[in-house]
Amino acid sequence: MSRKKSVKLKIVDHRHCMTCGRAIPPDKKFCSEECRMKYEEARMRERRMRKMLWIIYAVMIGALLVMIMLRAMIH
Ligand SMILES: [Zn+2]
Repeated sequence: MSRKKSVKLKIVDHRHCMTCGRAIPPDKKFCSEECRMKYEEARMRERRMRKMLWIIYAVMIGALLVMIMLRAMIH
């Protein structure tokens, strides 16, 4: 009975690797250095992508404003 309980606790007390989903100790986030690197890389890429999108958005709004101003100056 007590043995069963400890086994159940062990099952509850674990995590899954954030990259591949493998079961890992609760004090770790990834099963290996490779998975950690992959996760960091993906996060960095996503952050860079979001930054790029913001820059594109800002440039588009800037261009639109310039166009509106130019049009107002012409008329
Ligand atoms: Zn992994």
